[in-house]
Amino acid sequence: MLKIEHIGIAVKNIEESNNLFAKLFACQPYKTEVVESEGVSTSFFQMGDSKIELLEATNPDSAIAKFIEKRGEGIHHIAFEVEDIYAEMKRLEAEGFQLINKEPKAGADNKLVCFLHPKGTNGVLIELCQERE
Ligand code: ZN
Repeated sequence: MLKIEHIGIAVKNIEESNNLFAKLFACQPYKTEVVESEGVSTSFFQMGDSKIELLEATNPDSAIAKFIEKRGEGIHHIAFEVEDIYAEMKRLEAEGFQLINKEPKAGADNKLVCFLHPKGTNGVLIELCQERE
């Protein structure tokens, strides 16, 4: 794995949180994007070499809605950039980690992504991501 690409934070209201984090970081999000397939509305703040991703559910069945219902707002996942997501998924599966999706899928910010089940990673939801060509 190359670096922490971003940290995902689940929020109830992305407009309010954009304002809050813009104040905190003294910068505006560089992009906002709805990922319909995941039921999320996202925004990204550049933090040097890494990013902060805010996520708001766009429907009650979204994983973000369920997360907030269970645990409240807060850190939702840590995303690591990988060179070859297919190779890394194969390696981690062979190591006994549970992949939530068996094929890389299209994520926000022009990425291919795969999530590891948090029950195998000390409760931390981990995202692997690779820039799409
Ligand atoms: Zn993410």
